[in-house]
Amino acid sequence: MLLAAVFFAAALIHYTFFVYIPSRSAPEGRKISEGCALFAFLDVGQGDSTLIMSDSGYMLIDAGPDSSEERLRTKLDMLGIGRIDLCFFTHTDEDHIGGGDMLLRNFDVGSVYLPDTGRDSRSFLDMESAAAEAGVPVLPCSAGDRFMLGSVSVRVLAPKYPFPDDVNDASLIMIISVGETNAIFSGDAGSAVEKEILSAFRVDGDGEADGGYSLLPRCGLLKAGHHGSSTSTCAEWIETFRPDYAVISCGRGNSFGHPHAEVMVRLKAAGAEICRTDLTGDIYFFCDGKSFIPETGDG
Ligand SMILES: [Zn+2]
Repeated sequence: MLLAAVFFAAALIHYTFFVYIPSRSAPEGRKISEGCALFAFLDVGQGDSTLIMSDSGYMLIDAGPDSSEERLRTKLDMLGIGRIDLCFFTHTDEDHIGGGDMLLRNFDVGSVYLPDTGRDSRSFLDMESAAAEAGVPVLPCSAGDRFMLGSVSVRVLAPKYPFPDDVNDASLIMIISVGETNAIFSGDAGSAVEKEILSAFRVDGDGEADGGYSLLPRCGLLKAGHHGSSTSTCAEWIETFRPDYAVISCGRGNSFGHPHAEVMVRLKAAGAEICRTDLTGDIYFFCDGKSFIPETGDG
């Protein structure tokens, strides 16, 4: 009954397509000033997990694979994090959601959002049951949704109904904004989806009502799609967002050959500085609302 009430209340909040979490005390360990944020691309081997610390709380995009869940737990513990206000899973593949059950069992998670593709992977079911035990709502998320966490805002560009059949292509694609700066995250979506978004933008122009694409801003920070696979992060995508920095999250010596040479060439040709978790471990960017400033992580 209580669980149902929690789901219902959360659903009510969700369907306003706007979640506002008011300011409260600064994150432990590191104070983030109003108007600023810290982006931490955590090295979880072959997978994704990005922590965004705002002036009023924490947001996590993906929780890495099962095999790295203790590593992720240690990293979050070392950062002094007890609560994750917003947790997004870009999709239900194990290298993104595998650490989700650990997260929900060990941290105070506010709510979980992911595309409702109806794909019940083992990792998804583990995460879902851990969320139910913890009384954390698991809510659908799609194009047009918006969130705010202190000075950090999130605009969801994809997936758009009807969702693509391919689970990678139904990944959440989000622009995270702090002041005048933006970062783009695209999960494992492929270039066909990237091009669809770009053409919708071109066709719709001012089209908030046409799916929330409207103006696509320059993004100083771009997380390369699908761990640097050649099937994502197409030239048009890079040209549209013109990133100063591109982050590739992949495992050292991974069997997929990520990142692929074609993506490295495309990013370099566009003048982006490439940062790789397989080579440097955790990658931090401080954002003061005007630019992204790279910092050295703790490895
Ligand atoms: Zn992946």
